[in-house]
Amino acid sequence: MSADLPCRIQTEVKRRRTFAIISHPDAGKTTLTEKLLLFSGAIQIAGSVKARKASRHATSDWMEIEKQRGISVASSVMQMEYRDCVINLLDTPGHQDFSEDTYRVLTAVDAALMVIDAANGVEPQTRRLLQVCRARNTPILTFVNKMDREVQDPLALMDEIERELGMTVVPFTWPVGMGKHFHGVMDLRQQQMRVFSPGEDRVGGDDEILQGLDNPAYAERFGMQYEQAQGEIELVQDAAAEFNHEEFLTGKQTPMFFGSAVNNFGVQEILDALVELAPAPGERAAMQRVVKPEESKFSGVVFKIQANMDPSHRDRIAFLRVASGHFERGMRLKVVRSGKELRPNTVVSFLSQRRELLDEAFGGDIIGIPNHGVLQLGDTITEGEALQFTGLPFFAPEMFRSVEVADPLKTKQLKAGLQQLGEEGAIQVFRPIAGSVLLLGAVGQLQFEVVAHRLEHEYGCKARISGSRFQVARWVTCEDEKELKRFIDANDHRMAYDAVDAPTVLVEYAPELRAIEANWPKIKFHALREHA
Ligand code: GDP
Repeated sequence: MSADLPCRIQTEVKRRRTFAIISHPDAGKTTLTEKLLLFSGAIQIAGSVKARKASRHATSDWMEIEKQRGISVASSVMQMEYRDCVINLLDTPGHQDFSEDTYRVLTAVDAALMVIDAANGVEPQTRRLLQVCRARNTPILTFVNKMDREVQDPLALMDEIERELGMTVVPFTWPVGMGKHFHGVMDLRQQQMRVFSPGEDRVGGDDEILQGLDNPAYAERFGMQYEQAQGEIELVQDAAAEFNHEEFLTGKQTPMFFGSAVNNFGVQEILDALVELAPAPGERAAMQRVVKPEESKFSGVVFKIQANMDPSHRDRIAFLRVASGHFERGMRLKVVRSGKELRPNTVVSFLSQRRELLDEAFGGDIIGIPNHGVLQLGDTITEGEALQFTGLPFFAPEMFRSVEVADPLKTKQLKAGLQQLGEEGAIQVFRPIAGSVLLLGAVGQLQFEVVAHRLEHEYGCKARISGSRFQVARWVTCEDEKELKRFIDANDHRMAYDAVDAPTVLVEYAPELRAIEANWPKIKFHALREHA
């Protein structure tokens, strides 16, 4: 190790910002992603992210999606430089490919940017994703998009976000008007107004800025929208909490910005806020000890596995979040679970959407290691130390299907395929105690279609996937082992074991679950299981 490496590691970690955008479909995530890349100089031409999205969603045929994978793998992580920071942006798939992956991606970030459609307010998917962030105290920045439309009243929106998401909202900017009369935003911290002009051509730096929040020229130029904004700002400044960085870092306060992504308006403020407010990578808990990013030895955790482009090769890319140290191509690493050695030479990084060979990485970075099943979800990779990071969540599925082979001679293939797909996290597989038919569990409908398609094309076995009466699952634990056994025996008609043999109770209706919970006070019922 060169003498200045510890110093370099410290500097590099400090300038990393790793985040994901959470939003409901159509709120503007793709548009904003593209503008962030544009403003940071990572791409030159607007439209490339959009084009990818169009080609991905134009067809529901999974084969087509598969063909696009080469591009979409590369774009599920994007790296850009802004000011003196390296920003890693992780994609959370939208509703069509909504799956547990989406949740797990959120375990690999240090902050999240919540995009809200100002006309629709807080929508279901946002609420769901935010719950995951809240459970981990992830700091959240809020961007209220589409101010160039007729939208909700900003005070009402602010109130809705506070109420629905249980966070204190601290406006950093405030809109003057909306829709056809959207004149811009007041920057409440810099005490200036940024004037809106529509169009996609400008890239930062050339917005018209007017000094002061109550410049006498405003009333004349912006009329009643200004007067209304002035009244609202007074209210907000009296009533809203002061920004407190600690409260933001623990997810209790969220700074709020208004803008219009499609018009490149408000994008720069978001990049600045990421650099100035969002945290650098912090320590991560392993079962054995807490790991600091500036430690000299490399460690990382696999949070996502994606099948590779060519299904006949069966190789997959494991996405690792670097937790500590310095990663170098070709270095000797160990998979702690299996003790196997790994010497990744073809590691991919994701700079401005192109897949590139990566030479080095630091805490907070995401690296992709192609492999043939050596790496599993939740695996910890180190230079040798026996560490196991905790906290990779598995969520209780919300939909169930039973799965059988069409041709009984292919039973082996089905088992092998489901095992691998389960390891990838593409689906959860349950073995009911009663009967021999396996159950699949998912949080999104597309997961079943993908699994059926991949079983046929990658494992050569046509699966018969049919409805199941179950709708709710809970993992069960109990400090008293005898009590747990009593519970399992008494409920064997609705008990199953998951991929790691964790006992799970399955029921048809939520009220049924409540009745079971009431009858078995010593048993704990979990909607979330953490890896290891
Ligand atoms: P995603 O599904 O969250 O990725 O949303 P997209 O980025 O694809 O945006 C959905 C639609 O909203 C597209 O037609 C965008 O052009 C449009 N859109 C995005 N930002 C704005 C905005 O600031 N104003 C308006 N009027 N439309 C926008």
